[in-house]
Amino acid sequence: MLLCDQYITPLTLPDALAQWAQAPEGSRLVTGGTDLLPWAREGRAGDVHVPMLIDLSRIGELTGTETLDGRIRMGANTVFQQFLVEDDLRRDLPCMPYCAVWFADDQIRQQATLAGNLVNASPAADGTAPMLALNGEIEIVRLEGDTVARRSLPVADFVLGPGKVDLEHDEIATAVTCDALPGYGGAFEKVGQRRSLVISTVCAACLVKPDHDRTTFQDVRLAMAGIGPVPVRLTQIEDFLTGKSISRQTIREAAAMNDGLVNSRTRQAYRKHVVEGFIERSLLNALSDYGLELAQEDIREMANA
Ligand SMILES: Cc1cc2nc3c(=O)[nH]c(=O)nc-3n(C[C@H](O)[C@H](O)[C@H](O)COP(=O)(O)OP(=O)(O)OC[C@H]3O[C@@H](n4cnc5c(N)ncnc54)[C@H](O)[C@@H]3O)c2cc1C
Repeated sequence: MLLCDQYITPLTLPDALAQWAQAPEGSRLVTGGTDLLPWAREGRAGDVHVPMLIDLSRIGELTGTETLDGRIRMGANTVFQQFLVEDDLRRDLPCMPYCAVWFADDQIRQQATLAGNLVNASPAADGTAPMLALNGEIEIVRLEGDTVARRSLPVADFVLGPGKVDLEHDEIATAVTCDALPGYGGAFEKVGQRRSLVISTVCAACLVKPDHDRTTFQDVRLAMAGIGPVPVRLTQIEDFLTGKSISRQTIREAAAMNDGLVNSRTRQAYRKHVVEGFIERSLLNALSDYGLELAQEDIREMANA
């Protein structure tokens, strides 16, 4: 059971930081509550007594998104449903609608934030692979005396292991920033115990940009989560594909380059099989999203094989 002495809903960031700096030990931040509340309710930690819960969801400074100089900044209150319904986000982050559509259900998507997903750092959290592929960074603030000190670090360095992130006890994540990639094709693959309302076992994010005559890969972004303690960017495969002709053969060769990628303690053979399939499928689906009909034929052929 969750017991909480004080539930506070600050309306400004300075107020939240001041409350957080003075909060009794054991206090927690909460935004959507979709990780925090099940954790407490399910009693995985026994009865949970939280002296103070600080709800960040009403803070205006943490709300809203904007695109500037090829980067998009998403306030920490940005929820997964926005990646499905907001045109700017759909255009700039082509893999995110596919990520969001399989994320939980409508109600959870309205509550669950990208920032909370990254801070919670579940090994296969759906937000981590796309943010790696998109060169994501997380913005963090803390109070130093009367001033607000800010720092920013890549998501790849922020996530240190399952449930572990580079966030000090007095810090608050204020935003996630990442590359805006309009004109790319995007894909997101995930597998878990069942098809809907499922936490991923393995997930993959992919973005592709063919060159102007649509025959070679100009840029490829691939990342996966759930194959080791931290999410990984598949840079070796990206480098292999960049500049190569877009063909089923090239994609198969890329998918075969999966030795050493799986670094999980459990179900290694299964995860290796999934990794190979996801590299191939995510590339084909991203090309299909871009509008390359050849890839769609490939997908149909594969499905019929
Ligand atoms: C039914 C159900 C289905 C789900 N399905 C999926 C799924 O498909 N894929 C998936 O990846 N996850 C899934 N989840 C997990 C969860 O919804 C996500 O991880 C979600 O993105 C967490 O965001 P939140 O805003 O709810 O975080 P919260 O629960 O509010 O917080 C999570 C953690 O982050 C901290 N925190 C929150 N905001 C901040 C901040 N701004 N600064 C610093 N710390 C902060 C909190 O203290 C807490 O430790 C599911 C959960 C449920 C209950």
